[in-house]
Amino acid sequence: MRINLIELKKQQKGNVTVAGWVNRLRVHSKIAFIEVRDKTAVLQVVIDPGIIPRGMSLESLVEITGHVSERTTQNINPDQFLGKIELKAKNCEIISSSKELPFQINTNTLGIDESMRLKYRYLDLRSQRMRSNLILRHDLARELREYFNQRDFIEVETPALTKGTPEGAREFMVPSRLHEGSGYVLPQSPQQFKQLLMVGGIERYYQFARCFRDEDSRKDRQPEFTQFDLEVSFLNQNEIMQLIEDAIKRSISKVLPYKEIPGQFPVFTYEEVMKQYGSDKPDLRKNKNNPNELAFCWVIDFPLFERDTDTKKINATHHPFTAPNIISDKELEQSEEKLLKIKASAYDLVLNGYEIGGGSVRIADPVLQRKIFHILGLSTEEVNQKFGHILEAFEFAPPPHGGFAIGFDRLVAVLAGEPSIREVIAFPKTGESRDLLTGSPTPLLESALLEVGLKSIIKKSKKIEG
Ligand code: ASP
Repeated sequence: MRINLIELKKQQKGNVTVAGWVNRLRVHSKIAFIEVRDKTAVLQVVIDPGIIPRGMSLESLVEITGHVSERTTQNINPDQFLGKIELKAKNCEIISSSKELPFQINTNTLGIDESMRLKYRYLDLRSQRMRSNLILRHDLARELREYFNQRDFIEVETPALTKGTPEGAREFMVPSRLHEGSGYVLPQSPQQFKQLLMVGGIERYYQFARCFRDEDSRKDRQPEFTQFDLEVSFLNQNEIMQLIEDAIKRSISKVLPYKEIPGQFPVFTYEEVMKQYGSDKPDLRKNKNNPNELAFCWVIDFPLFERDTDTKKINATHHPFTAPNIISDKELEQSEEKLLKIKASAYDLVLNGYEIGGGSVRIADPVLQRKIFHILGLSTEEVNQKFGHILEAFEFAPPPHGGFAIGFDRLVAVLAGEPSIREVIAFPKTGESRDLLTGSPTPLLESALLEVGLKSIIKKSKKIEG
């Protein structure tokens, strides 16, 4: 029976059978060495060239039977987990063969042309570094889940086909075939649904949520990405920040115990951080060459509103559901200049110069929420049409609530010391939102456009214009 390579650390008696991909191959006239790799380790196999099957090349998948022996002192490889032993092969068979590789995967693939790595992502995933990144991602997700499960949170899934929510990014549209001329959008975040869960009495929610944002090409952004999303009732801003801080510290120290995490994350106001560092995501590491140093900090007291530099319109700095830090609603009836001075009950978490999360205490009062929408330039009709559902929900005794979302890809990338979030996503898209593996996006067929009703709408609107 086939065993994983890692088991050879203990089981070294008698014949064993292992299977794996050929990581390296050196054939001499009398002796050959095959380095075999499975998901657990790499092993050196010593083999008589005469029993190597024809057609075996790098990355062929082979099954080998033989017995384990200790390597001689000068042949020990201290860099390999199984570097003190080798397998003396008696039999070797090809399970499936590989065509010539587009690039080498038995080294760090980071230096290889990224478009090749993305096109052949399944090969890249065989490399040690990519595999460890996915394991790190999995381990961290497991620990975060565990932390919140133990504190009575439940994971709830929210819809991917939904209605627009203004959180600052453009949304992807999904035309509806059943309701010609109408459509859904893909969520930028589960913001409204997690607040509705609080109205629903769930009280403690989290979710690994896929978020979608149709942004212009940006070097290290993805059109779809993962948030560790959370919402909780009855906790105030400091309590939520403490909860997140504790969750992050404990989860990271379980998965990566050698990382240096500060005892207490420093807290700066937006004004302080801008004055001291000229950025709202300062890199506070003492030594930027130390890969294990994790310098977290909180930034609070952001302005509630900001003015768009192009349109001059007033926007919500975090999102419109964020509670203002005001004593009376009257403060919202002041001049624009004064409105821009109001602070938000919002908080960002920064790690080594990256914003890795953000959240806020929410508005749970429909009257106040309406006022905010009006300040943001929405008419009563627009508010009713876009947000009638959540405003109505707030009329049924909503609990005080707030939440947070961690940019999970970014957090894992920083912890892994990777330069881009693409290195910690199994199947990412390029900076231009292309999936080079499947070739998407692909041109939409006329028949498909007709079926979802888009074609006739385009025709109709052309007629109207003409
Ligand atoms: N929905 C927010 C975001 O995506 C996070 C939050 O306020 O909980 O940034």
